[in-house]
Amino acid sequence: MSLVVSSLIFAAYTPLCMKPNKVRKVIIDAGHGGKDPGCFGKKLQEKDVCFNVAMEVGALIKMHLPDVQVVYTRTQKNQFVELRERARLANREHGDLFMSIHCNASTSKEASGTETYIMGMNEFNSNEDDVALRENASILNEVDYLEKYDGFDPESPMSHIILANYQNTFQHNSLRFASHIENEFVESARRKSRGVKQSSFVVLWKTAMPSVLVEVGFLTNPEEETFLGDSTGKTNIALGIFHAFEKYKNTVEVRNPNNQK
Ligand SMILES: [Zn+2]
Repeated sequence: MSLVVSSLIFAAYTPLCMKPNKVRKVIIDAGHGGKDPGCFGKKLQEKDVCFNVAMEVGALIKMHLPDVQVVYTRTQKNQFVELRERARLANREHGDLFMSIHCNASTSKEASGTETYIMGMNEFNSNEDDVALRENASILNEVDYLEKYDGFDPESPMSHIILANYQNTFQHNSLRFASHIENEFVESARRKSRGVKQSSFVVLWKTAMPSVLVEVGFLTNPEEETFLGDSTGKTNIALGIFHAFEKYKNTVEVRNPNNQK
């Protein structure tokens, strides 16, 4: 990519005025919904698991961190929301942090663990490609997606490579939050972590704030499907994300002692 193009892209994704480091509004995005069910286990559908976890994370934040406003991208269990509308809502609301919650799937029943993604170039190994391809395929449910997403085609590997080049100015804090999530999943939720990864996700592409996409486990793995379908398991995952959010907020805000409530 030429320097000119890189500069233009950087300029397009730099906020007009850099906000001080406060975390006062979080956007919680439950993946899929409505006519887009996401992936499946034997009993569970991804859209339902995402919704339940998202609602519980939001409730924990509201209960324990009353200075933080929670905004959901979908508020009904069976609601379909376009990917670009999720990012637009986050930007309209001037969120300080965006989290998109999803479940993973694999052709192998053995595949297991959590992973959290930030926007960026992946290492081109097949697993990361599969996750982004599968999650981005949500836009195939939308009419005129090629026009709406500037020619982005979720079925074209080249589109994913181009998308991944849209590095944004929020990568550092996205990585910070993603690392807290995976640490909490291991330490407090006792899950196996597959780590923090980078890939190109449409839903993260246009959010003008630090943003992550969390895969909370594999619905295709019988043990993980049972865990995610159980209310204790779901709460452990939600608590892990909540504690990660609390740590992220504290770390970001302590770096700016001039912050005022
Ligand atoms: Zn998903």
